[in-house]
Amino acid sequence: MQGKSVLETPVQYVPTVGPARARLLSRLDIRSVEELLYTAPRRYEDRSQFTPMDQLAPGVAQTVLGTIERVEGRRARRGLALVEIVLHDASGSLRAIWFNQPYLAKQFVIGQSVLLYGKVEGQTSPQMLSPEFELVHAEERDAIHMGCIVPVYSTTAALSQRRLRQMVHEALGRFSYRLVDPLPAELRLKHELIDLPTALRTLHFPPDWASVERAHRRLAFDECLTLQLLLALRRRTVTHTRKPQRPDVNGPLTAAFLKRLPFALTAGQQQVLAELRADVSRPQPMNRLLQGEVGSGKTVLATWLLLVAVQSGYQAALMAPTEILAEQHSRTLKALVGPLGVTIALVSRGVRRHHRQAAYRRITRGEPLIVIGTHALLQQAVRFEHLALVVIDEQHKFGVAQRARLRAKGHTPDVLVMTATPIPRTLAMTVYGDLDISTLKELPPGRQPLQTQWLRSDARALLHERLHATLASGQQAYVVYPLIDETATSDLKAATRMARELQAVLPQCRVGLLHGKLPSEQKQRLMRHFVQRTIHVLVSTIIIEVGIDVPNATLMVIEHAERFGLAQLHQLRGRIGRGSAPATCLIFSDTQAPEAVARLQAFVELRDGFALAERDLALRGPGEALGTQQHGLPALRFANLLTDLSTLQAAREEAQALVESAAHPSRPQALRRLADRLLAKYQHIDLA
Ligand code: ADP
Ligand code: MG
Repeated sequence: MQGKSVLETPVQYVPTVGPARARLLSRLDIRSVEELLYTAPRRYEDRSQFTPMDQLAPGVAQTVLGTIERVEGRRARRGLALVEIVLHDASGSLRAIWFNQPYLAKQFVIGQSVLLYGKVEGQTSPQMLSPEFELVHAEERDAIHMGCIVPVYSTTAALSQRRLRQMVHEALGRFSYRLVDPLPAELRLKHELIDLPTALRTLHFPPDWASVERAHRRLAFDECLTLQLLLALRRRTVTHTRKPQRPDVNGPLTAAFLKRLPFALTAGQQQVLAELRADVSRPQPMNRLLQGEVGSGKTVLATWLLLVAVQSGYQAALMAPTEILAEQHSRTLKALVGPLGVTIALVSRGVRRHHRQAAYRRITRGEPLIVIGTHALLQQAVRFEHLALVVIDEQHKFGVAQRARLRAKGHTPDVLVMTATPIPRTLAMTVYGDLDISTLKELPPGRQPLQTQWLRSDARALLHERLHATLASGQQAYVVYPLIDETATSDLKAATRMARELQAVLPQCRVGLLHGKLPSEQKQRLMRHFVQRTIHVLVSTIIIEVGIDVPNATLMVIEHAERFGLAQLHQLRGRIGRGSAPATCLIFSDTQAPEAVARLQAFVELRDGFALAERDLALRGPGEALGTQQHGLPALRFANLLTDLSTLQAAREEAQALVESAAHPSRPQALRRLADRLLAKYQHIDLA
């Protein structure tokens, strides 16, 4: 295609570039005309007018234009190299100083014009420290460097702003007019988008500030549409897949299970159950995410699903991120469905070797059963004969590859992934866009309010008071101590000291210490004692973060809370408030750091996991943490997951329509071209 080949032209063929500068550009990851044109300016500068030097406001970044009247390179104290220049305009003068760049002295020539960008300091004799600068050559006083809004890029010292600006300008002049816009006019009109050549020219050389926004919106739309097309195609691949298994949702096990449940399902649970029922009954494999508030009761729903597989004669697997959680699931399920005669096998490091091997044999034989385990499930030794259903609990604790490996142990099994860390809406439309989503917000009835308090370390007395009160009423407590590194003995010592101190304060109770370094059996013994209430206070590292369900625990104390992220704090708090007694979460932190303060305040203020997730995204920004790339999807350079929700939504609808119409014989040509063009770069991506 013409449009494609133009953009793929190696950058060295852009006038003024050539092979040597092309090598410099490759250091900026710019190899093609496309990569050059899509390099967004880091910022812009309005060089149509400059602030006179006698009117510069202190502390604000500003651009000045002046003539150099003095240049001096010298050594200051401790050998620091200083370059100082003085420049003036019609109104006054200004000093600028750079440190440790002695070579700069040679670049400045008296009488030459220079632009400086930086903050002005000092009232009586104004100066700028290490400002960005650009030398202005008389012959270059043309429309791209001066007298307009000018782009400023991220570049290397070897490639000046003006040079790069010049190259972009040449590339636009040579190639942008030959670009074919992949978006048909009617689509642009519908979404009020400017055409692509205009968007690219505007991105670099905007006629005014408002047009920068329009250029960004157009480029963001392309990114969102590409992303959504990929996701829609993935979905289509899934919906075109037929699974071999025929799950029976009306068998005796599920019926007996629901009848024996010690409680009635909440309306929300019933709704999700209906969704799961419909999903597994379909000829396509299920691919669903269940996001449910901590303590909302996801385990019973997963159990129902596991039983569907078993009563249909298949094998089912439940994977959890920690040994203590896998062990808890095994205990819970044995209590819930053991009496129905269902085999439950636990595969985890803590299980004795001969038990584990017996389990492997049953799995290999193809016996219908439920296998519960940690990452240990992913080992080669675990060979399923008929794995038809996979549930992944606390799925955010696993990587994409790990989830895929468990799935690959079956032949297109039905898959349910669960999490109590809700996914903000924008993410649900991006990295998780190929999943169906069920949401469980409501908690089972009878839960009491949960209180959160932020204390400074001078309020320790209150901690002891709270512990005494909690234990006196027969309830239990967690004290979580952050270990930056579970293997660092210094941190472990601090946690150990803390456990010993508490034991001294609470002589009539038993305090246990749980951490990742303990042998598996010991971890499980401690957890069992806590469940059986023979341990009353559990001092623990973050390993109890997810899934642990001990309803009698009503006090959660989090030490050095600033060291935890919002999602972790929310999960930790989710360990309490699971019974019918009121619960309290005390967080200790003396932090003054503004981001940490904002985070902890949000935590105290918000209880709802969804609200917290949105706040977390807002506080952290849509950084790498959310990475589309680790999910095998294109990175977003122009679209912003925080602010471009409506663009994302619009692109999603267009992508859906496009992929649906693609199945039609009357599939419009323009749209096919669009998909071909937008997806050309992503053909290596596995759409399955
Ligand atoms: P999560 O969604 O965090 O995984 P769990 O599945 O561990 O939550 O459930 C939390 C607690 O709530 C468990 O003790 C469970 O037995 C209980 N539970 C679940 N559903 C109900 C219900 N409908 N009514 C009462 N208690 C319930
Ligand atoms: Mg759970």
